[in-house]
Amino acid sequence: MKLKIVQAGDPVLRQTARPLSEDEIRSAAIQQLIELMRATMRDAPGVGLAAPQVGESIRLVVIEDRAEYQQGISPERLVERGREPVPFHVIANPVLTVLDASPRLFFEGCLSVTGYGALTPRHAAVRVTGLNERAEQIQIEASGWYARILQHETDHLNGELYVDRMLARSFMTDAAYRKQWLDRSVAEVCAELGLPPPAA
Ligand code: ZN
Repeated sequence: MKLKIVQAGDPVLRQTARPLSEDEIRSAAIQQLIELMRATMRDAPGVGLAAPQVGESIRLVVIEDRAEYQQGISPERLVERGREPVPFHVIANPVLTVLDASPRLFFEGCLSVTGYGALTPRHAAVRVTGLNERAEQIQIEASGWYARILQHETDHLNGELYVDRMLARSFMTDAAYRKQWLDRSVAEVCAELGLPPPAA
């Protein structure tokens, strides 16, 4: 069973989601929601899903970047993205701190903006504290692609989408991305689209 993923234009994606209490996190309702979010994320497939994307305005995200999702991306591009598998995990009430604010620029998409992507700047490294599915304190420090996922998902809880941060000139369909841009460096993409070169 899976949930419907709401699309850009649904007001829930623009609301500030409310925190969960520890008792709520451990409740049967939230435990079931987590399982459904996991199934929904895998079915999509996606590397992260925030509760507002399934219509629940609560501060809860699930993340998983499976090795199989990275097939078809060249080793060179994976290194460029700093992308490595991340096991499934849950974060409730995440609080994000920037550890390294230097900009990292890559294509990003969203299950709530189906069929499109764009170059989106993100901070190089972040720390996230919060609670896991057992309401235990967790702390994550991440750089590379995982840091990007954490920033994208916490943005959802604050009513923000990647399109608020993207370089609009790079906005494109997934089909165009796969056809023309998938295996090119970000520097090449910027040059061709008339964007300033990315910071080193
Ligand atoms: Zn998203």
